[in-house]
Amino acid sequence: MSGPLLKVKNLVKHYPLRSGIMKKDLPVVRAVENVSFSVEAGETLCIVGESGCGKSTIARLLMRLVDPTEGRVLLDGTDIGSLRKDELRAWRRRMQMVFQDPYSSLNPRLTAGQIITEPVENFERLSRKQREALAAELLQQVGLAPEIMHRLPSELSGGQRQRLGIARALSLKPSIIIADEAVSALDVSVQAQILNLLMDLQEELGIAFVFISHDLGVVEHIGDRVAVMYLGRIVELATCESLFAKPVHPYTEALIAAAPIPDPTRARLEVPIDGEVPSPVRPPQGCAFHPRCSLAEERCRTEIPPLVLMQDGRGVACHVRAPARQVTIL
Ligand code: SF4
Repeated sequence: MSGPLLKVKNLVKHYPLRSGIMKKDLPVVRAVENVSFSVEAGETLCIVGESGCGKSTIARLLMRLVDPTEGRVLLDGTDIGSLRKDELRAWRRRMQMVFQDPYSSLNPRLTAGQIITEPVENFERLSRKQREALAAELLQQVGLAPEIMHRLPSELSGGQRQRLGIARALSLKPSIIIADEAVSALDVSVQAQILNLLMDLQEELGIAFVFISHDLGVVEHIGDRVAVMYLGRIVELATCESLFAKPVHPYTEALIAAAPIPDPTRARLEVPIDGEVPSPVRPPQGCAFHPRCSLAEERCRTEIPPLVLMQDGRGVACHVRAPARQVTIL
């Protein structure tokens, strides 16, 4: 199969708020606005941004846990929005999710073994022997001892529970895993173990990841490419290497400047960022970042900058740093 494994085209998600007299008057939360990207087989695309930027809504749209207001999600060329319920169920084998909070995403009444074999048993009947063999194999794959298959989630540590969530996602041999803040609830040392586990599994099994995080340190560690989101839109899309070496969008610059630097030899950028993220119910006109941007010009207040292709292959949405004489890619 040629072409990207996952392709997202002009995705929009608006959530109406329950107020207003007429339906057309209902204010909407503009969670995702015209987002497009693709993911190749075996690649890790990170989506990063402050809370409320729409990154978790994208995870839900990719899994079709919610339907888009507009736009399409294609997996291996098939539009998952066009699938009937039974077809979607079969396609979900290929796309699995790992959640932020391992504890609330695992059924507390099931044993570890039952939790990780349940997805497979939704498709085929397993004998007790087959179930135990599968559970042991999956547990070993994520670095857990097979003996814990009889324990409940409450008897496991946070790191063990997240490994269990990963084993469950692996059970159906997916081509792509959507990981939504998958390590943010864990201690730093456990975070590193889980990130290394995900990278090892990717190398071994060729799985692609969409890794959603607010933590730039985590993104730099695990990502091949990164999409930076601000108020529902991608403002910069680049390889991790080029983005961290030389951010172009003023928001990316400010995010990187504000992040803790693990490497003391690396210079810190001095880029101030004032104010708070505006409400997605009434985003600023033009470039949504303009009230906080020190480079803002008159046109920034009226015209939304398109994501354009720079010479080095990255996409940037900024009237000043990526003038539109270049080709608009998304
Ligand atoms: Fe700043 Fe204007 Fe670029 Fe937006 S378009 S980031 S306001 S310079």
